[in-house]
Parts: sequence; C-alpha cells; structure tokens
Amino acid sequence: MLTTEITQEWMDKFYHKIEENKDYLSELDTPIGDGDHGNNMMRGMEGVKQGLAKLQKPDLKTILKNIAMSLISKVGGASGPLYGTAFLEMAKKCGETQDINALINAALDGIKKRGGATEGDKTMVDVWSPVAQTNEITQKVIDDAIASTKDMLARKGRASYLGERSIGHLDPGAVSSGYLFTALLETEAS
Ligand code: ADP
Ligand code: MG
Ligand code: MG
Repeated sequence: MLTTEITQEWMDKFYHKIEENKDYLSELDTPIGDGDHGNNMMRGMEGVKQGLAKLQKPDLKTILKNIAMSLISKVGGASGPLYGTAFLEMAKKCGETQDINALINAALDGIKKRGGATEGDKTMVDVWSPVAQTNEITQKVIDDAIASTKDMLARKGRASYLGERSIGHLDPGAVSSGYLFTALLETEAS
C-alpha cells in the first residue's frame, strides 16, 4: 500500500541515493550518452524536495502529481518526461488502488507509451518491467535487471546512435531507476 508517509520517505531516500551517486550516473552516461544523467537527476530531485516541502497536508494524488511536475520541469533530458510520466500515471491510478504493484504497472505503461521503448531496448524500461512483473520486489530482482542492460544494444535514446558500440555498458537510466526501487524497498522495510 502506497501512502503519503511512504511516498515522502521514499522520495527522501531517493534524493540521497541520487546525491551519493550523481557522479557515477554521469560517468555511466559518458560513453553511451552526453554525460549529464547524474546532474539531470540531481536537479530533478532538488525540485522534488522543494516542491514537496511546500505542500500542506497533501493527499497521495497531490504528492505524486507534484513529484511528476518537478521531474518534468527540472530534469531536462529524455529521462525527465519519462520519470514524470511514471509519477503522473501513479497519480491518476491511486484513486482506484494504492497497491504498489498496480501503481508501478500503470507507471511502466506510461513510460512505454511516452518513450516508445519496449523490453530489451536498453532503457529504464528494462528495470521498471521486471520490477512490475514480480510479486515481491527484492534487491536481486533490481540488481539483475540493471545488470541485464549491459549486453543489450540500445534502440532508444541517445545511446541508440552508437549502435553496436552501446553494447558492454550499463544503461544510466536503468541504474537510476534501480536506486528508485531500492529506496522504495528500504522505505517499506523500515
Ligand atoms: P539525455 O539522454 O537526454 O541526456 P538523460 O541522460 O537524463 O537524458 O537520460 C538518459 C536515460 O533516459 C537513458 O539511460 C534511458 O534509460 C532513458 N531513456 C532515453 N530514451 C528513452 C526512451 N525512449 N524510453 C525509455 N527510456 C529512455
Ligand atoms: Mg544524458
Ligand atoms: Mg542530455
């Protein structure tokens, strides 16, 4: 069950993971992108933090929508509208169900529709999809999903310009999505 308290703690933990791994995410984005993913996500999460701090006793839908809007307006880069869409879809769905798995599935559908990527294209979808498909999110599910992107050939986003040369590198958006779900795991466990 996703609640307002869980979502706020989830975003707080995600913020810290992005802060700790900002340079690593940008390094991953250097050989197969433009080296900005860590900075993009950090800017986005600063926006999320500031946006949430301004809300007075918000309900879940308001929180999820606020996160989405901050990510869309602050991240810049392809990942911003995609993460934003994910949270916007969760906001739309949460009136019907607060089941975390159902919300993640709605988010995944939104990411796929918005970006046109499918499983195996070496994008964040390759982490969101296995997480959406499992009935229990574990660190192993997350880590295996991230690792699986290494040998993929990129078919979407900047990395796709490299063709065969994209093989052998982890996808940066898959790694940041991994932090998002690790943050959720840690929140649910605490
Ligand atoms: P940009 O590529 O514009 O600099 P970022 O570096 O912030 O943006 O984000 C790159 C990440 O966005 C990729 O690693 C990938 O996971 C994700 N991404 C890019 N295009 C798509 C897409 N069409 N569908 C899903 N994810 C995508
Ligand atoms: Mg980039
Ligand atoms: Mg960029």
